[in-house]
Amino acid sequence: MIQVKELTKEFKNGKNRKLTVLNNINLEIEDGDIFGIIGMSGAGKSTLIRCINLLERPTRGHIIIDGTDITEVRGKNLHALRKNIGMIFQNFNLLMQKNVRKNIAFGLEITKLKDFKIPGMNAENYKKLNYFQKRKAKKAEINKRVDELLELVDLREKEYYYPAKLSGGQRQRVAIARALATRPSILLCDEATSALDSKTTDSILKLLKRINEETKVTIIVITHEMNVVQKICNKVAVIDKSEIVACGYTEDVFQNNSSEIVRNLVGGIM
Ligand code: ADP
Ligand code: MG
Repeated sequence: MIQVKELTKEFKNGKNRKLTVLNNINLEIEDGDIFGIIGMSGAGKSTLIRCINLLERPTRGHIIIDGTDITEVRGKNLHALRKNIGMIFQNFNLLMQKNVRKNIAFGLEITKLKDFKIPGMNAENYKKLNYFQKRKAKKAEINKRVDELLELVDLREKEYYYPAKLSGGQRQRVAIARALATRPSILLCDEATSALDSKTTDSILKLLKRINEETKVTIIVITHEMNVVQKICNKVAVIDKSEIVACGYTEDVFQNNSSEIVRNLVGGIM
């Protein structure tokens, strides 16, 4: 489970001025959820998920994953922790000079980290992370895992293609495979379908849903698009001007559309 507690993020905005991008955010995301975070551009969505894997450090508050307060984790421990959190992006962020196989394997070929220690981390997560940290995975092992991932995202035929020769949907499939290479328990998706047409969006959403069902990975979906939330999220939080203005089961949130921002989203004004 992921708990976000009283999370505030401020950016310095010139001398003696600060911009509050997240203001006292509280969230509980349960294992296996596909949890949507929806809001207009500039609402603070990306900053919120970047705090969840500590790409941004919260100004105040805590992120607790499976009972471990990760806000205090630093250095190589943080590096190890991130192996438990995959992430995909709007513009895919693939390595253009590497083919599909090598892009996917990149998630596994990590530097050896000795003796990382994350206080309070549950034994199962520790064992899994330690497995990847203890030694560089062997070539045969990497190849086997890449084969599985190619199967998972249905890209067998494209394994030696370079990203430039792939469609947007295929690129996002590669990114998904790479993000899942170390079997993370959380997958963060920041506007993962925003660069795709509606048909391709549907196929990526279907894939994410199938992966969630098969692997039980918890998925957090950041989006400004209502239909994305409606199609795959069991729960949703609506964020507006740095605050959560509604949160709960998707149907409930969109039926009790009491706040203006929710009405706007439902009405498709965005
Ligand atoms: P969203 O993803 O909902 O569009 P963001 O989280 O990207 O919103 O941004 C929220 C606000 O925080 C915006 O006003 C943005 O300009 C500001 N912001 C984001 N990152 C930084 C940063 N590193 N430094 C200063 N301001 C930032
Ligand atoms: Mg964003």
